[in-house]
Amino acid sequence: MLSVSEAINQLVASGSKVTPATEQLSVVDSLGRILAEDICASIDVPPADNSAMDGYAFCYAEASANQFQLPLSQRIAAGTAPQPLVPNSVARIFTGAEIPPGADTVAMQENCSEQNQIVSLDSAVKVSANVRSQGQDIRAGQIILTAGTRVRAQEMGLLSSFGIKTVELFKPLRVAIFSTGDELVEPGTDLQAGQIYNSNRATLIGLIQSLGMIAVDLGTVADSAEATDAVLVRAAELGDIILSAGGVSVGDEDYVKDAVAKAGELNFWKVAIKPGKPLAFGHVANKPFIGLPGNPASVFVTFMILARPFLLARQGLAETAPKFLKAQAQFAKSGEGREVYLRARLEDGGVAIYPNQSSGVLASASWGDVFVRQLSGQTIVVGDLVDVLPYAS
Ligand code: AMP
Ligand code: MG
Repeated sequence: MLSVSEAINQLVASGSKVTPATEQLSVVDSLGRILAEDICASIDVPPADNSAMDGYAFCYAEASANQFQLPLSQRIAAGTAPQPLVPNSVARIFTGAEIPPGADTVAMQENCSEQNQIVSLDSAVKVSANVRSQGQDIRAGQIILTAGTRVRAQEMGLLSSFGIKTVELFKPLRVAIFSTGDELVEPGTDLQAGQIYNSNRATLIGLIQSLGMIAVDLGTVADSAEATDAVLVRAAELGDIILSAGGVSVGDEDYVKDAVAKAGELNFWKVAIKPGKPLAFGHVANKPFIGLPGNPASVFVTFMILARPFLLARQGLAETAPKFLKAQAQFAKSGEGREVYLRARLEDGGVAIYPNQSSGVLASASWGDVFVRQLSGQTIVVGDLVDVLPYAS
């Protein structure tokens, strides 16, 4: 059986082989999307020396030769172009306003006084204090963001600070999803004996959308070879990627794995992960296929740990490795053969796990905000520093 890390490596290697299509979009519409181009700064930021304070701008050498007393010669508000500083004078200046040629230092207004147009400057000020110099943030020509970076609010602002209005982004992937199981009915219908509500469909739609991708929902598929063959054909037509839940185990009613092998190829089946062992990866009509097991907590775990890095790599994201943190265990748990992903919650001074870690208990995923990773054979005692992976990382 593949280890979790071997499975992730295979999935990410396969996902990053294909470069997604791109589109040009406005920076303000780019939240959560992935850059398809390197972005080079065309200007210095800030574009000119400017004041970090409300106060007075002056030439330090002149001020120290005049006992820090100089007449006022101009007023520079933010957004106006300054005149060169009259020698042996000071300029009233405001935060963000350009430093006039000839000045090199700003004294805070709180430490200065002004009487009859003569300013007593703060004599304790250091040369070049309170000046934000041209290009201190970024220099023209520097690469500020590279292709494969996810755009967050701060990147939207950074791009705008260079006057960039539109960017080249990868088009969101279309992920065709279906659930399998004769027992499933949709919310909105009354339950008959033997039936349960389909929760995986909604979980998968939410998970895919939270990655900025498009969920193409093919609904629920009956437990039969014919229905499974047919949905795979449709999914391969409609999606860039096919993702299913259920029917990949070893029961008589598990048709998905065999249908994938028949229609295309099965690249691997079963990963040493708990919950979620019978995960399948393959291709149908050259479209990647991931078959998650059906238990609702297994769907959440296997999507987050295995499908997510694959989808992000396929979407063009450069950094797909999960970012684990450390936290102190507030629980004890004996080691298991497989690598376990416990649904857990960060609490004061540590991490607690949901009491019922059964693969059918979706409430565990909802209660939690992080996974605790328990490596194969790792016994955890209270106070151990354990690996924690935030859901949102
Ligand atoms: P399977 O992987 O198809 O053997 O399903 C494993 C367990 O998960 C069974 O108890 C199913 O009833 C349940 N299950 C499968 N699919 C879903 C679904 N879409 N929503 C809720 N439970 C499901
Ligand atoms: Mg089933």
